[in-house]
Amino acid sequence: MKALRSWVEDARAFGVEDLLLPSKLELEPVAEPPSLQADTPPVPRGTGDSLDRIAEEIGACTRCPLAETRTRVVPGQGQPAARIMFVGEAPGADEDRQGLAFVGRAGQLLTKMIAAMGFEREEVFIANVLKCRPPGNRDPRPEEVACCLPFLKRQIALIAPEVIIALGGHAMKNLLQTEASVGRMRGRAHEYEGTPLVVTYHPAFLLRSPNMKRVAWEDLQFALRTVGLEPPARPAG
Ligand code: URA
Repeated sequence: MKALRSWVEDARAFGVEDLLLPSKLELEPVAEPPSLQADTPPVPRGTGDSLDRIAEEIGACTRCPLAETRTRVVPGQGQPAARIMFVGEAPGADEDRQGLAFVGRAGQLLTKMIAAMGFEREEVFIANVLKCRPPGNRDPRPEEVACCLPFLKRQIALIAPEVIIALGGHAMKNLLQTEASVGRMRGRAHEYEGTPLVVTYHPAFLLRSPNMKRVAWEDLQFALRTVGLEPPARPAG
């Protein structure tokens, strides 16, 4: 009951009001879905690749000019066998200082979103398209993405999440190779190399447009269902 109360508080803090309390917390995983491992991961299993090795390579990376302006690299962090993987755009100032993904204001909202789903941050994996901060938080440039995306692809292949949640347009466009808007792409399951991918709004956008949190919550519920989890409660109305 304490866990349920804390979950409801987290969901409300994330901005989801009017939760109907379920008679019991329905977060039991149903049958394990079939393996969703990518058919052709960029670096196949068994080649000695590892998340530590990728992080080391990122730490030494000078493939693009962001290496000159970064304070720290931000490889991403979390559970190596995560069922759910979140992918954002690029580190901001806080992430650049700490070397950790999503630790600033947007990261605090992401933590609440994850908690509203019934998970701890440590149970999922959180990464970005770019592993270094673009100066002034400008948009990632295509040549930077071209240098950095292989790291993310290797991380996805190793983690083999059951579902990827793309946070915002940059993650979505670069993983799905589309120019469509988040608004058009959300609400259905896409596929990245055999893994279901669900699109939702970036937490930084949700901070500026809190009325969209309700819509994002629908996306998170949808993502849960794609991994065989019944969302823990439903918003009223
Ligand atoms: N925004 C992102 O896309 N990623 C972070 O790590 C922080 C903010």
